[in-house]
Amino acid sequence: MVPGVRLVVLGKQGAGKGTQCVRLSHHYVVPHVSTGDMLRAAVKLGTPLGLRAQEFMDRGDLLSDGLIMEMVGERLSESDTRARGFILDGCPRTTAQAEQLEELLHPDRLDLVVDLEVPTALAMRRLASRRVCIDCGENYSVSNPPTVNWTCDICGGEVVQRADDTEAAILHRLDLYERQTAPLIAWYEKKGQLTRINGAGSAVVVERRAVRVVEEARQRRHPSGDLWDHR
Ligand SMILES: [Zn+2]
Repeated sequence: MVPGVRLVVLGKQGAGKGTQCVRLSHHYVVPHVSTGDMLRAAVKLGTPLGLRAQEFMDRGDLLSDGLIMEMVGERLSESDTRARGFILDGCPRTTAQAEQLEELLHPDRLDLVVDLEVPTALAMRRLASRRVCIDCGENYSVSNPPTVNWTCDICGGEVVQRADDTEAAILHRLDLYERQTAPLIAWYEKKGQLTRINGAGSAVVVERRAVRVVEEARQRRHPSGDLWDHR
């Protein structure tokens, strides 16, 4: 049996984070736990958490650490993630969230934090070609369109270029991400939990790089070869 994994994937927009999270969740047979997807679903369903999230968004505020961690904590306490692990996408965003995540997982810990690195020019190119479903948020691109006429393969929604995917707006978001994430990356680096990998190249090649660094991290923790501390 393939061992599970507890993995956080970081990366700016255009780094291919969403794609790699899906691929890695298939590879390790663990859920892809995406805060973006969970929030969209909670808002759409009008759950208590979704309503609170909606209030933040209506005010144009960032969601609070408390709300994000409550949502992530609930998801990580379910049986599938407890048994095999997860690919965590969109959290942590701050060192405060990273500290809370550590407490949530205790006495387990992350196998690794993978930071997908791509040059800004490549992220820009990828983002400019990005198209997204207005209903479910599924990502497509000019080179990877939905099967039928810009209609979402998953939900039938309309697939469009986001209004805020202009060059200036993209550059601004990339810059903001770098500045906001720098302390988090430094925090994980200091703990020896972070590995940077090159996010340029095809999805298959990048996935292989990610799997390799995860295996190397496990080897460091369990040099004897008993890989996965199942409980
Ligand atoms: Zn859709």
